[in-house]
Amino acid sequence: MAVSNTEIKIVPEVSSFITQPRPMLIDGKWVQAASGKTFPVYNPATGEVMAHVAEGDKEDIERAVKAARKAFESGPWRNISPSERGRMVWKLADLLEAHADEFAQLEALDNGKSVKVAKAADVALAVDIFRYMAGWATKIEGNTIPISGVTAPRSTFFAYTLREPIGVVGQIIPWNFPLLMAAWKLAPALSAGCTIVLKPAEQTPLSALRLGELILEAGIPEGVVNIVPGYGETAGAALAAHPDVDKIAFTGSTEVGKIIVKAAAGNLKKVSLELGGKSPNIVFKDANLKQTIPGAAFAIFFNHGQCCNAGSRLYIEQGVFDEVVEGVAEEAQKIKLGSGFDPTATMGPLVSDEQLNRVCGYLESGFSQGARALTGGKRFGEKGYFVEPKVLVDAKQDMKVVQEEIFGPVVVAIPFKDPNEIMPLANDTTYGLAAGIWTNDISKAHRFAARLRAGTVWINSYSVFDAALPFGGYKQSGWGREMGHEVLENYTEVKSVCIGL
Ligand code: NAD
Repeated sequence: MAVSNTEIKIVPEVSSFITQPRPMLIDGKWVQAASGKTFPVYNPATGEVMAHVAEGDKEDIERAVKAARKAFESGPWRNISPSERGRMVWKLADLLEAHADEFAQLEALDNGKSVKVAKAADVALAVDIFRYMAGWATKIEGNTIPISGVTAPRSTFFAYTLREPIGVVGQIIPWNFPLLMAAWKLAPALSAGCTIVLKPAEQTPLSALRLGELILEAGIPEGVVNIVPGYGETAGAALAAHPDVDKIAFTGSTEVGKIIVKAAAGNLKKVSLELGGKSPNIVFKDANLKQTIPGAAFAIFFNHGQCCNAGSRLYIEQGVFDEVVEGVAEEAQKIKLGSGFDPTATMGPLVSDEQLNRVCGYLESGFSQGARALTGGKRFGEKGYFVEPKVLVDAKQDMKVVQEEIFGPVVVAIPFKDPNEIMPLANDTTYGLAAGIWTNDISKAHRFAARLRAGTVWINSYSVFDAALPFGGYKQSGWGREMGHEVLENYTEVKSVCIGL
């Protein structure tokens, strides 16, 4: 493995975007923080400061919520027809697609991921969710209800439901897919007719701010989307606790998810949560190993292991354990670390120094409890936050590296003897976000898929996302679903109307 210096050239739109301190978007205007403060944004490939962004705080959240409330109650947004709303969301998708190269570069600079992957996955999926949700704007509807007439003759009433936007929504997102997480949140909320205050992660605020410019260009009225970058403990906490926010949608760690729930209790705002995971990826010995081995490596190493759904617990049936584990280790060894701008690199740095220390800390904990690494060393290179991908063996189910989310390129491989013993092990963490099954026996695949306590199960595949497919967690991996028509439940209220005839 080596760090290369050959780099894709940064396009002028991106260099000029990061040269100026970036303001925040409130009420359709780009403004400085009330405090006048900015915070630094680091390039994870070098560890150097590459941009400065306005540091939103309680006062800025206050201004943004006020703007969102005004836009919800009385602004032009309220009177815009669903089809016009849908057209604006579709236009936003077109604009994003037209600027795909620029967004891919911004994302790579900010997060460390490869420009190529950012364009093919992050930007493409973000465009797709805006298009998918644009179509839903005209299809959010209530029903007519034949009421049973227990307390009065049924023929004297006519009843129906309305599905209405929930109101002012606070959205707090993480750094692993900064643009895509913003898109997963904004697209359904806009299509449902809500107004929004979005707080991007402090590590990666750039693509959301650039998206804000396109939101205005798409004709979405002022105050409908407000974007306030800042730290979690200040801006995020103020948004989660704000008494005039009707709903908070959060993606991030389970630990902070619990803080959000407490903060939201003040005005009992609705809450949806997309949280962490420690997903089991189960290989049966009848699986097609040619497909399974690269699939299992992709399940953990994609996005440098910084995926909430990463297949980080690899359970392998005895008989094929050595072959699979050695195959995955070989895949890890083929990975070339480098900046997201190095076209030959296949894995970039972790997002931050903090994340690097967290991953190295978990590795040390695993080693001290008796786990052994088949590949890799520790930190890689002299600058930036690179860590070599790892395959750990000799791990026990109760070790921290098996139970807790590492959020880095570390997979723990554990053998199992009998297919009947695997389900309790697979379900034995506090999480329930995703799972994988690799087998050629389709009945077995369906049988085990039904027994997994996870919001998504991939069979002979992994990390396949689609705007139409709901995604979210069982257990402590979250509340509610993103994507699919299910996400509209997060952003709408149902009103029953009953008419005496
Ligand atoms: P994090 O919880 O530290 O931060 C997420 C967001 O919450 C950031 O914007 C942060 O500023 C904000 N925040 C932090 N403290 C806060 C507080 N007290 N009040 C309000 N907001 C606060 O998570 P992270 O490290 O940025 O992201 C990694 C985590 O996100 C992992 O656990 C991962 O599994 C999870 N994640 C889940 C999904 C999913 O869809 N389930 C997707 C991506 C990431």
